[in-house]
Amino acid sequence: MAPIPFSGSPLDRASDRRGDAAWLAAQAVAGLFLPFWQNRPLVSQDRAALLPWREEWRGRTCVFLGLDFIQPLFAVDLAGETEPALGEGAFQDMRASAFVLPARDTAIAGQAKALLDWHKRHGFCPNCGHATDVTDGGYRRLCPACGAEHFPRTDPVVIMLPILGDACLVGRSPRFPALLHSAFAGFIEPGESMEEAVRRELWEEVSLKAGAVSYHASQPWPFPSSLMLGCYAEAQARDFKIDGHEIEAARWLTKDEVRARLANKIEDDMKLPATIAIAHYLIRDWALG
Ligand SMILES: [Zn+2]
Repeated sequence: MAPIPFSGSPLDRASDRRGDAAWLAAQAVAGLFLPFWQNRPLVSQDRAALLPWREEWRGRTCVFLGLDFIQPLFAVDLAGETEPALGEGAFQDMRASAFVLPARDTAIAGQAKALLDWHKRHGFCPNCGHATDVTDGGYRRLCPACGAEHFPRTDPVVIMLPILGDACLVGRSPRFPALLHSAFAGFIEPGESMEEAVRRELWEEVSLKAGAVSYHASQPWPFPSSLMLGCYAEAQARDFKIDGHEIEAARWLTKDEVRARLANKIEDDMKLPATIAIAHYLIRDWALG
């Protein structure tokens, strides 16, 4: 089965070697670079565009992505107001790209976006305020003033589908595209287990009491740096009450109804999540399982 989008990268991240500056410099000479501009990867003929180094990129933020067999891959951030003309492909929205790129390119571009985006927002030391330096191919920033080390963030988010008997509850956030109903989601807070975060979010968003929580699958989600932890939650009753703020509508769907919707046999005022999102796999795997 195909991996959940943004996972399944074929690259060897060479984490045991990328801290060696001489090794990394040799990789860069032979490297291919995926350019980004305003968080958008360069896409050419529905593939992530990998280009040889160009001298005009000197001084730009560059990160090492890994080895594709023996081919070193990097990403370079071409920051600036106007779109750089590279004579090849076009910079395309990351989400939209995920629908057209092969799975491996989506994973590689997602890794690059999450890393470059982190560097853009973490140029200064949170400990002392001094400008920090990139090291380890982009997997660490070092503060020359106070010696603090900073590592790229990954923020855990729970995403859960409440289940009761033969039905699951889906909801709609006012931020969603029109008609979309999906699983519920929220950031895990400090001092909270994944299971506790699932129960708290369901209580806050739809006043639903949940019991057992089971983990299903995860997805790296580079908007900007989340790891989605997909779970099922056993609902203790059908009653729910939307909070009207995070969630503006919710409804129970039977397995039969979900199957019919996944097969596009129902056309009405509701859409289920697209195949780019882990919510799609949570809903699909439950309905077809
Ligand atoms: Zn510092």
